[in-house]
Amino acid sequence: MVRDELLRLRVDAQAQAATLARDLEALFTASRDSNADDEHDPEGATIGFERAQLTALLAAARERVAEVDDALRRVDAGTYGACEGCGRPIAAERLAARPFARRCVTCAA
Ligand SMILES: [Zn+2]
Repeated sequence: MVRDELLRLRVDAQAQAATLARDLEALFTASRDSNADDEHDPEGATIGFERAQLTALLAAARERVAEVDDALRRVDAGTYGACEGCGRPIAAERLAARPFARRCVTCAA
């Protein structure tokens, strides 16, 4: 059951990463075609800002995929749901909100 939830999250995160990678690619192509000057052209500055935002979002989406992969490994190893800090079980509410959480609320704080 947890595995299914994690697999679903993984599909979502991967789809998000793929979309962001495509958007970023389109932005690169657009900025190359318009020959925008990042420093002096106001439109170039906007593209630079958008590019930075998309890059950050893409990194976050890829990080999410990695976190979910890690959680899936813990499910397979039978250690899923145990806090990596203190070894105690992570609260069910926390796992419901963040199924890939590695630490309990106390250790994460
Ligand atoms: Zn803990």
